[in-house]
Amino acid sequence: MRPLTPNHPPSKQSEANEGNPSTPITGRGKDLLGNAIIRLTLKHPLFVPLVQLPNVLIFALVIATGLWGVQQGGSNFATFVTWVIWWPLIIFTFIGVGRLWCLACPLGAVGEWSHRGVMWGKRKTNWSLDKKWPRWLRNLWLPTVLLLAVTWVDHQFTITSSPLHTAYFVIFVLTLSVLIGLIFERRSFCRYVCPIGGMIGLYSMLAPVGLRTKDAAVCRDHLGKDCIRGNESGYGCPMFEFPQTLDRNNYCNYCMECLKTCPKNNIAIKPQHFFKDLVETKVRRVDEAVLAVVLVGITTFQTLVMVKPWEGTIEQASKLLGVSNSLAFIILYSLISLVVPLVLYSGAVLTTKFLSRERQAPSRNLFIVFAYVFMPVGLAMHLTHNVSHLVNEGSKVLSVVSDPFGYGWNLLGISKYTPVPLLPGSVLTVTQIALIVLGQAAAAYLGYKLSSQLFREAGKAEKIIIPMLTLAAVFSLANIWVLGLPMAHRD
Ligand code: SF4
Ligand code: SF4
Repeated sequence: MRPLTPNHPPSKQSEANEGNPSTPITGRGKDLLGNAIIRLTLKHPLFVPLVQLPNVLIFALVIATGLWGVQQGGSNFATFVTWVIWWPLIIFTFIGVGRLWCLACPLGAVGEWSHRGVMWGKRKTNWSLDKKWPRWLRNLWLPTVLLLAVTWVDHQFTITSSPLHTAYFVIFVLTLSVLIGLIFERRSFCRYVCPIGGMIGLYSMLAPVGLRTKDAAVCRDHLGKDCIRGNESGYGCPMFEFPQTLDRNNYCNYCMECLKTCPKNNIAIKPQHFFKDLVETKVRRVDEAVLAVVLVGITTFQTLVMVKPWEGTIEQASKLLGVSNSLAFIILYSLISLVVPLVLYSGAVLTTKFLSRERQAPSRNLFIVFAYVFMPVGLAMHLTHNVSHLVNEGSKVLSVVSDPFGYGWNLLGISKYTPVPLLPGSVLTVTQIALIVLGQAAAAYLGYKLSSQLFREAGKAEKIIIPMLTLAAVFSLANIWVLGLPMAHRD
């Protein structure tokens, strides 16, 4: 078995790059920043705020309609735009362009403005206390716990169907982002706290485009490292990334600060093949591995609670276990989202180790590396779940925009418009099954690539990956089964 390098520290990776300075870090395609107009536009101090501002205004409207609009989840702007339009659509952006959404995200924007004390340009000093984020929290454990907590809170307080609760939720997260911005360094909230930040980072590893340095040798010879320290032209990387060692999309949000600060013009944005980051990255971490598996569990749970047969399950479990409904919910939620996926995955890891006939193969490293195989499976399930909301309810967007508070306004003059599903039911079902099959195929490809990086003996990679692909197929088939059940729509 070849040695693995999970938790590869940036400094080591940087040394690896420096050892072979002719190795290109970027993909092979055309550098988007090679076009002078694009480069100058992206470098302009007003570019990022102009992208952020419309989204901040939309979030402000979400809060206003949530607080003061008619409390009907299916037709209020707050719930409709947040959970039927925004949430399903941004998932597609992660797959297509990585973390680009984070550049425009209002939560990150207000945190950053309160941190810097300006909306654009560079101040010598900022408003923040600039405390260092605690070292023990510089990982994805907190975002994973918060993601689990948000899902739980949603089911307890029906955030996705309550305009008022959606508004409270947005206000809470905005406040958290501002407070963290005022106290801690850079975008600590986006990197270490945002409940969906870890998930966005993992999904972004599929994207066929990435920001990297052009030439590792140029970085090696440049001692100033302005991209991480900042200079008069811009800030040091707000996401705590070091462009010299970037080999994956997880945390880069295309904020363009390194483009402004790099005096060597050594930043490129280039196409790359799908899954490149997942296959080739030198950085693999146990917190990311756990999140990759837990995402499959959370998505399964989210899909399960949307079907009619789920109704009454909590009450039955509560009677069976002799506990309150709330506790029964927590038990079922923990089992489906956390315990079962992690136990099954750990079993697959041990089986893999047994099949490898390498008793010395470290289980921890197998656990970390093969967890990434479940990324496309979880993503496919996530898309499948959300695409049904988008298709079945998305066409209501015009009537909701026309009457955002539900007061009977007719701003767009379409009061007589009757929303219809964007696709026939049969096409939607085929699309959903196709997504799950694609996720399974991607898992097979990824599993084989990772397995053959670890085990070079002829025929071994194919054999080793069988337990992982079997488990991935179990998750996918379970999802297809759930999809066949009658759905209970959100109001
Ligand atoms: S400032 Fe530019 S050349 Fe220097 S380390 Fe950063 S990306 Fe490389
Ligand atoms: S400074 Fe550069 S590496 Fe850092 S997040 Fe912004 S674009 Fe990405």
